[in-house]
Amino acid sequence: TAFAEQASLSLDNVSFTYEKQPFPAIKNVSLNLQSGEHIALLGRTGCGKSTLLQLLTRAWDPQQGTILLNDRPLTDYDEATLREMMVVVTQRVHIFSATLRNNLLLAAPDASDEQLTSALIKVGLDALLEQDGLNTWIGEGGRQISGGEQRRIGLARALLHKAPLILLDEPTEGLDANTEHQILMLLKEHCQHKSVILITHRLSGLERMNQIYVMDAGRIIEQGTHHSL
Ligand code: ATP
Ligand code: MG
Repeated sequence: TAFAEQASLSLDNVSFTYEKQPFPAIKNVSLNLQSGEHIALLGRTGCGKSTLLQLLTRAWDPQQGTILLNDRPLTDYDEATLREMMVVVTQRVHIFSATLRNNLLLAAPDASDEQLTSALIKVGLDALLEQDGLNTWIGEGGRQISGGEQRRIGLARALLHKAPLILLDEPTEGLDANTEHQILMLLKEHCQHKSVILITHRLSGLERMNQIYVMDAGRIIEQGTHHSL
């Protein structure tokens, strides 16, 4: 499969049950993401948001229903193509004990120092560059990275990645309202032509999302815009 510049997703009646679990974690979920759209998945803890994201990355495959990526079944794609087409920022961003540069290069091996620096500035991490620039050692044995900083590094990786589909699992969790606002603006500005799925607990700040899906107990219970919800 050739590398695609665009990504659309279509889920039709998708259900998924974890092994040895009595009840499905995802129940009859249908949703559409057009190329270039930004949608949010909203819902309380345990409702299935991260599980749904994991179905998109094929960490698991649903037992029922279909998932199409650019109108082709997700199961048709080889692993390498999927990794090129989507970048995922998980709830716990992994920081390697390595330089800032190497922590970012894993998302974009060809990126120049200028591009890396620019991504760090966009996510508001300029302060990390103060002492040793991109050579600053972070993680174990280096500069300690707070939870908020970890999420920003995850975001910087997503901004640097060439994938047309960005999946973000609660990138603003634990951040103050002002920082959350900045990050949502940043997404809007720098991911305009990309397709984005943003997972979050809160409806606030989602005014610019094309569509918001509210989940409860594995189902989509509401769908609309910030205005209509
Ligand atoms: P949060 O907002 O707390 O991150 P979530 O909406 O992302 O929650 P999920 O992590 O998708 O929720 O979990 C959905 C349900 O599936 C929960 O009941 C959870 O306990 C269960 N679950 C999650 N991962 C597994 C797993 N690996 N094996 C079995 N059950 C799981
Ligand atoms: Mg989750």
